Amino acid sequence: MTERIPRVACREQDPKLRAHNFEEVCLGYDRQEAMLEASRCLHCKNPRCVGACPVGVKIPEFIAEVKSGNIDRAAAIIAEDSSLPSVCGRVCPQETQCEGSCILGVKGEPVAIGKLERFVADNRSGDSVSARAALNGKKVAVIGSGPAGLACASDLAKWGYEVTIFEALHKAGGVLEYGIPEFRLPKDTVLKRAIDEVRSLGVRIETNVIVGRTVTIDQLMDNEGFNAVFIGTGAGLPKFMGIPGENLCGVFSANEFLTRNNLMKAYRDDYLTPIHTGSKVCVVGGGNVAMDAARTALRLGAEVHIVYRRTEAELPARKEEVHHALEEGIVFDMLTNPVEILGDGNGWVKSLKCIRMELGEPDESGRRSPVPVEGSEFEIATDTVIMALGTAPNPLISKTTNGLETTRRGGLVADENGATTRPGIFAGGDAVTGAATVILAMGAGRTAAKAIDDYLKK
Ligand code: FAD
Ligand code: SF4
Repeated sequence: MTERIPRVACREQDPKLRAHNFEEVCLGYDRQEAMLEASRCLHCKNPRCVGACPVGVKIPEFIAEVKSGNIDRAAAIIAEDSSLPSVCGRVCPQETQCEGSCILGVKGEPVAIGKLERFVADNRSGDSVSARAALNGKKVAVIGSGPAGLACASDLAKWGYEVTIFEALHKAGGVLEYGIPEFRLPKDTVLKRAIDEVRSLGVRIETNVIVGRTVTIDQLMDNEGFNAVFIGTGAGLPKFMGIPGENLCGVFSANEFLTRNNLMKAYRDDYLTPIHTGSKVCVVGGGNVAMDAARTALRLGAEVHIVYRRTEAELPARKEEVHHALEEGIVFDMLTNPVEILGDGNGWVKSLKCIRMELGEPDESGRRSPVPVEGSEFEIATDTVIMALGTAPNPLISKTTNGLETTRRGGLVADENGATTRPGIFAGGDAVTGAATVILAMGAGRTAAKAIDDYLKK
């Protein structure tokens, strides 16, 4: 009875060791472990896992190939629907998507679909470079090199378009490079390989180009001969609480803190990037960004508290990241909300004044909303406060391009195919939806690539 085989555990670095280094936490399956785990899949006739994958990866088909040891065949099946399997296998919220719907999860543990995807992506023999059609004479500009931009550029290049990605930072990858830490997504191996594959399709990546400052979309289209544009600029504008004391030294957005460490390598002795943690750090928020900031501060040597206004059940972060954070010794201060950051008289943070919360009625998100408990204010002594409260799209592109409408929340208005309110300009990923997930951004990039192809063939 296949369902009696327990889910194969994935080897991980010891929490005591990894709390002091930036090496990858999860070590992945070896071939034998992957084949055993693959043998648990029931190959359902109507696989619920596929319906729950935002890009519809043919999960039972690729798992069948892993079971037989045909890793390259499995990689080819995944590549039909996903351009970043080594990334998605590591960072997708599988527990709410494919694995959350796996039939085996009803009475036991779901198939470890994410770990199998990662195994395939890491262990395929060659690069998953597809054949490229002959150049068709049309040029497309892709703005932003995150998952949305990379996925859009790859598909268009395969179909014969001359594609240039313009990236504001000095390295490509978007959040995958500057946001998600090395211990979850290794940069020089996993991410570099994924980006090199995009380059090998003929895609040019021009870094240090801020579209809207260095060059505008109108200039790209009118003077540089681009026939269409895809905007995948993400949602990199951090939000703050608007409480007193947020301008004190020692208060950071998670975005800045993580960028200093990941993109600018503050954690490495051979880099001079300054970073401040002090001895105790409070990270405000409960999503993946909060977990990443907290676990980074821990590795830089601080005692770290997560301050979150709901309970563990409502934490929006991936379950695995919460589990890892707890194992590593991060303290979770639940049902706690900051009301003020207090200074030491010299302009630096001294403590975080908070109020206790309780859960009231569900709000529009369906989660029970936190309500302050009157008179319950208290202080947490701390040197550093990191705000991880979400991000919004940067308005630079919409402000410097005629005809692009935005929503109330700052996202670009785009239809289900990614067409914006201006013909020839398409958009997708966090720039449209606001902060979301890698797989949704990648899916939006591929959908827009198809729409650009249709538009340019008219
Ligand atoms: P981005 O990845 O943000 O890329 C946009 C790129 O556009 C950036 O490189 C930016 O520099 C560039 N850009 C912006 N403006 C311009 C301009 N004017 N000109 C040129 N270039 C420009 N999702 C998950 O699924 N799982 C996770 O575990 C997870 N963890 C996360 C952890 C952190 C710390 C963060 C910040 C996000 C996390 N996410 C996670 C969310 C996920 O990374 C994003 O939803 C996804 O990266 C969005 O992709 P994108 O391509 O739309 O934008
Ligand atoms: Fe296999 Fe689970 Fe998908 Fe069924 S739902 S095909 S058991 S992974």
